[in-house]
Amino acid sequence: MSSQPYQGSTSASQANPNAVDNLTTGRSVEYVCGDCDAIVALKRGEPIRCRSCGHRVLYKQRTNRMVQFEAR
Ligand SMILES: [Zn+2]
Repeated sequence: MSSQPYQGSTSASQANPNAVDNLTTGRSVEYVCGDCDAIVALKRGEPIRCRSCGHRVLYKQRTNRMVQFEAR
């Protein structure tokens, strides 16, 4: 019953408001803001937007390898 609105969605263009099961999937892609060069980690389905300055043009960060968590 408690249907909370999606956080951080200014231009709500959601196709499936009820299918929000992807929120817990920790798979995120890092982007680089085209304005302030901040690194923005976005998950699937999240709006492309910088969290620092609100810029909407993000570039995909060039990762040297696959996503690994300090596994060296
Ligand atoms: Zn920015």
